[in-house]
Amino acid sequence: MSSILSGLKDLGLGNLEKKDIFEEKTKTPVVKKEAAQPEPKKEQTDEREYVFGKTHTCPVCYKDFKAPTVRQSKIRPAGMDKDLRPRFKNFDPMKYDVILCPHCGYAALGRFFHNITPPQAKLVREGISRNFHRLPEKEVFTYDEAFIRYQLALGNAVVKKARASEKAYLCLKMAWIIRSKKEAIEAGTEEVEKAKYLQTMEELEQDEEELLNNAVEGFLNARQTETFPMCGMDEVTLDYIICVSAMKLKKYDLVNQMLNILLVRSGLNSKLRDNCIEIKEELRRIKNEEA
Ligand SMILES: [Zn+2]
Repeated sequence: MSSILSGLKDLGLGNLEKKDIFEEKTKTPVVKKEAAQPEPKKEQTDEREYVFGKTHTCPVCYKDFKAPTVRQSKIRPAGMDKDLRPRFKNFDPMKYDVILCPHCGYAALGRFFHNITPPQAKLVREGISRNFHRLPEKEVFTYDEAFIRYQLALGNAVVKKARASEKAYLCLKMAWIIRSKKEAIEAGTEEVEKAKYLQTMEELEQDEEELLNNAVEGFLNARQTETFPMCGMDEVTLDYIICVSAMKLKKYDLVNQMLNILLVRSGLNSKLRDNCIEIKEELRRIKNEEA
């Protein structure tokens, strides 16, 4: 990604590619990468069993459309990563969390889709719909097709001046989508050109870190200015995610700061507490090695 929003040019929204996601924040260094290439055609018959076309009425253009929606009864959870990213067997429902209106380009995570104020809808019509080129409608998505929908949701969030938490939460989920894609490549269910395997994996790793970095920055901002619950998360959960993500990003001062807050909280369950203690020990080991 030359920026988190690169790729939107193809949808007529090239002007968004260079937008600052958290306006007043300083820009994070960007990673050079070519725009996403279309995925090689693959058998997608299986995934069709997991989704159905649900009809929505768009709160921006008032037209009806159908969006692929996950059949909840089909989902098989398979644990969580340390940063609470949920894992699933056979099928990843996270690919379908963004709802996109194919008529006007309005896109948002399901939990935010219908919560748009009239002034925000106006901003979307002016900043997105006016230039939006339709995406081919699909019953099921590859990770790249899912990712462009997330980018569009983030572009919409910037245009409609969404809260920092909504933008940060999108960045977090985008980082998780990238991680899922990496895992799918490793498992052989997502194709990648053999000669470019190492390069692709390295770029995906960098993309994930860039997105996590934006998520952390946005959540730190939201933590000071918004009230909980935030995107369905309580304060302990959010602080925990910031802590684990900061560890991955090697922001050790921030990790330390979050651990000091988290370890004295009563709302931290034993599993998360154990993870925090583990991180604390790892941090001590790193500090000792540095000394
Ligand atoms: Zn619409």
